[in-house]
Amino acid sequence: MDIPFVDLEAQYKNHKNEIDGAIQNVVNDTAFIRGDYVDNFEQKYAEKYGVKNCIGVGNGTDAIYIVLKMLGVGSGDEVITVANSWISSSETISQTGAKPVFVDIEPDYFTIDPTKIEEKITDKTKAIIPVHLYGQPADMDPIMRIANKYDLYVIEDTAQAHFAEYKDQKVGTFGDAATFSFYPGKNLGAYGDAGAIITDNDELADKCRMFANHGSLQKHDHKIEGINSRLDGIQAAILNVKLSYIQDWNKKRLSNALHYNELLADFEGITTPKIRKNAIHVFHLYVIRAERRDKLANYLKDKGINTSIHYPTILPLLSAYDYLNHTPEDFPNAYKAQQEILSLPMYPELTNTQIKYVTNNLKKYYTNK
Ligand SMILES: *Cc1c(COP(=O)(O)O)cnc(C)c1O
Repeated sequence: MDIPFVDLEAQYKNHKNEIDGAIQNVVNDTAFIRGDYVDNFEQKYAEKYGVKNCIGVGNGTDAIYIVLKMLGVGSGDEVITVANSWISSSETISQTGAKPVFVDIEPDYFTIDPTKIEEKITDKTKAIIPVHLYGQPADMDPIMRIANKYDLYVIEDTAQAHFAEYKDQKVGTFGDAATFSFYPGKNLGAYGDAGAIITDNDELADKCRMFANHGSLQKHDHKIEGINSRLDGIQAAILNVKLSYIQDWNKKRLSNALHYNELLADFEGITTPKIRKNAIHVFHLYVIRAERRDKLANYLKDKGINTSIHYPTILPLLSAYDYLNHTPEDFPNAYKAQQEILSLPMYPELTNTQIKYVTNNLKKYYTNK
């Protein structure tokens, strides 16, 4: 049996008519950049989040950069983020001229360890970027407490956690702003690059909107220099269609994850993912810890099961950050995870037969050694 890591084709086939129609409408209207489809998406997304502003941008990386920049973060500043994430969480800090400062993870949840944030705060610290990694909410209560105590901005990197919740509140609504990616493989994915920022701060929203559009809100009236990072019409139209299904898809991901957890419970060699108490995890990724992980991945590959690692090297140990001179001992939990984590196939359309095939092969691997 061949099981892809993600199956974007399955979702397209299920909604082909609607999506094809949406794309055709944009082409008919030649509403390629911004326009009604984008306005419509921004409105609906803000509504679903219960926030005042949503700004569609070119991708999830730009979203972080734009927010940091418009909050005034720059040269001489420090911004705290988590050791295990995609590089967007930290490269955007450097892009502003500020310095990324990494914090270790909570081993059970793979998100930033709030008990290790304060020791990293200096008088240069301006902001914290918690990442709701794999679809798991970061521990927002203590993070917000620390941010308030030291007067720091909080930008939630919500690229992997659309509509996840922490104590009955959607993640992305705790901080000063939240950023989203709609990269095709994300829970809410476009058919190309796309991203968004949400915030209740009107002034920040206007600034972000302006900066992302060459520094102008009205054509040829450039108040500042900006960048070109806009959501395009086709992506917005596709996202509009998908917005009606995202909650349902998230539920399917969760139920697939619980099914995996059940079949792999108490299984020697494997630790299944935990869900934070009082949280809704949206399982962008289903990440186990596995003994002899690399051999296992090869074994599964031979059986047609595609897996991945998120991420093979923690951010502070990437060559890009050699200049920070970090060692594995600086981030013991993240470093340990880096050697054990394995992402199994996860998408809403995953069938019980496929899940069973994956878990049976996992069991075979560990019983045969
Ligand atoms: C995908 C991702 C991003 C960046 O999104 P792009 O749209 O690919 O630029 C940022 N942060 C995290 C945690 C991500 O997973």
